Amino acid sequence: MEHQLKLKQLITQIDERQEELIDLLSKLIQFKTPAPPARNTEEAQQFIANFLREKGFTIDKWDLYPGDPNVVGVLKGTEPDRYKSLIINGHVDVAEVNVDEAWEVDPFTPVVRDGVILGRGVADMKGGLAGALFAIQLLHEAGIELPGDLIFQSVVGEEVGEAGTLACCKRGYTADFAVVVDTSDLHIQGQGGVITGWITVKSKKTHHDATRKNMIHAGGKLFGASAIEKMTKIIQGLQDLERHWSVIKSYPGYEPGTNTINPAVIEGGRHAAFIADECRLWITVHFYPNETYEKVSKEIEEHIIQVANGDIWLRENPPAFEWGGTSMIEDRGEIFPSLEIDPEHPAVHTLMKCHESVLQEQAIVDVSPTVTDGGWFGDAGIPAAIYGPGDLRNAHAINEQLSIQQLVDYTKVILTFIYNWGHTKK
Ligand SMILES: [Zn+2]
Repeated sequence: MEHQLKLKQLITQIDERQEELIDLLSKLIQFKTPAPPARNTEEAQQFIANFLREKGFTIDKWDLYPGDPNVVGVLKGTEPDRYKSLIINGHVDVAEVNVDEAWEVDPFTPVVRDGVILGRGVADMKGGLAGALFAIQLLHEAGIELPGDLIFQSVVGEEVGEAGTLACCKRGYTADFAVVVDTSDLHIQGQGGVITGWITVKSKKTHHDATRKNMIHAGGKLFGASAIEKMTKIIQGLQDLERHWSVIKSYPGYEPGTNTINPAVIEGGRHAAFIADECRLWITVHFYPNETYEKVSKEIEEHIIQVANGDIWLRENPPAFEWGGTSMIEDRGEIFPSLEIDPEHPAVHTLMKCHESVLQEQAIVDVSPTVTDGGWFGDAGIPAAIYGPGDLRNAHAINEQLSIQQLVDYTKVILTFIYNWGHTKK
């Protein structure tokens, strides 16, 4: 009963103190953190580190890349062995802004009008960060101490596949549950995954253009091939597999055929005077929440090796595969693991109940049509869900905007969830 009363008072305060919440979001937007170009989050992260430190968090801040630090704040619970712990995770980098984009306002000088706030990152995902930070501020000001541990991760690199969240997992941060406060329009979501890969066809020898007649004609007696022409067989093989996947695989909440293999970039050949001795194909693979990137990349390799075995030259010169990567900027590769959501998990159940009791509407549990850092928790074996304000029509969009009402609603729910989960016995 005492709990309910405290929470009610805090929720009323969120309505009364909307302006402060909007100011906090505006402050975050004003830090210019687009990625690419990235390497520009130091100030924003220092601001969040200071904000958390003032609320009693112990701060761990380290560079993922120079100029792009991760920040993890830990607020020790009063009885951490007996009560559930929580990770709140969000990325502070935002989608890039191109000079020719027709914004009605300066993307980094947020404007409030007609019930929305406009600015780069309001929906993806500084709105989620602001809501969660404001909830923490209110809990702190009310003198509420959670029995369970609360860990706040403000990460970098999400927009360019740099996995600041993976770095947090590797550094040993774990909890009984994680909420990724990324764009979900207040749905509680899991996600499919994405992995990029390079397929390389390479000749052991380089031949001059004039030898082509010897490798393709009767009596030429030269065992050689154009790597570009051989790559077309591999592309055909990828299309066959993609079609097969769309027929065979499915997952509730996704349109059939969402699991695509995109031949995104092709590079090959050295000069018009030579037979192409190397060809590289950059592919983007989308897979379902119940699949892993290890499994789908293996399926592709096995299929393409079969295709290669059906070709006399490729059998002798099999294609090579390189999967994933740590950055779309540094090494042209990325992984977003999938996250399967368990509606029976007690934390998901608690989050649904918080949403329903605060907003008086049915909670929706479904899947994200895009990818977030949520998959890294799935990969690390930490139960997690994506739950944040903003919709994907606005993420990365010109005149990106967020409904103030939704931001306020979100802050109420996330505050209630932090409070309730932090008071849940292990
Ligand atoms: Zn995002």
